[in-house]
Amino acid sequence: MNSINSNSSIQSSSSSSLSVKEDGLSQLSRSIENAKRIKNVQDKFVNSQSLSKEGRALVGEGILMKVCRKKPKQRAFFLFNDILVYGRVVINGRKYSQQKIIPLNDIQISNVMNSEENPYSWLIKSPKKSFVVRANSDRERQEWLTHLDRCIRFASEGNHTQHNTVAAHWVPDDQSDTCMHCHTTKFSTYNRKHHCRNCGSIVCAGCSKKRFLLSHLDAKPVRVCDSCFLKLSKSSTNNSRSSQRDSSDSDGEENNAQYLPTPATFYENIENF
Ligand SMILES: [Zn+2]
Ligand SMILES: [Zn+2]
Repeated sequence: MNSINSNSSIQSSSSSSLSVKEDGLSQLSRSIENAKRIKNVQDKFVNSQSLSKEGRALVGEGILMKVCRKKPKQRAFFLFNDILVYGRVVINGRKYSQQKIIPLNDIQISNVMNSEENPYSWLIKSPKKSFVVRANSDRERQEWLTHLDRCIRFASEGNHTQHNTVAAHWVPDDQSDTCMHCHTTKFSTYNRKHHCRNCGSIVCAGCSKKRFLLSHLDAKPVRVCDSCFLKLSKSSTNNSRSSQRDSSDSDGEENNAQYLPTPATFYENIENF
């Protein structure tokens, strides 16, 4: 999996214009329009955290499909120069809920194989959650990646305490009908699919009885597959007792409104850099 940093097609500018680029984002953060846009995003979220912050700029927004366990879900994404905010779409363009905020410092972006059912996709990796998102067109994907890449670099300027531990990307449920650990258990209504929190593979209950403390994910020990448990136990003395608690790993059901293709909007003119 290549980092997008190695993708030369999105690095249109020469490195000598770096200081000009940062000026662009700083200027944007001082503009009145920017302050209005940020307030506007905040007001549209049910139970929003305060999003106004000195030096913060809203760089772009748009609807992306977040590829989840069961099926892709429509999510509104807001890219700032220091955080990525997303939420469930209640009324497109007007009301959002379930606000999630990820500091860009914690985010890593990488490409995914663009399969037929997931074209225009990429992977967003963060300590708590890693997931695939899908844009509406290749052009939109390129725009998101360009801005994300630039903002992540802007956010990590002078901050070298970047987290290296990111969550495993959960293999979507429809990718396997048998346990990826023992290769024998067939999944059914009675044999539920579980996800190893360390490697993300789909495993049966029997192969994932153990719990292990992955402090970037949770304060409590979480479900891991037997191979990961062995690996993690060996590499750590911080070995936790397994608990038999059956955690529900459902992401919450919802009836997904149909996908309204809304072009992403970016407020910064990238042609200038
Ligand atoms: Zn198994
Ligand atoms: Zn595992």
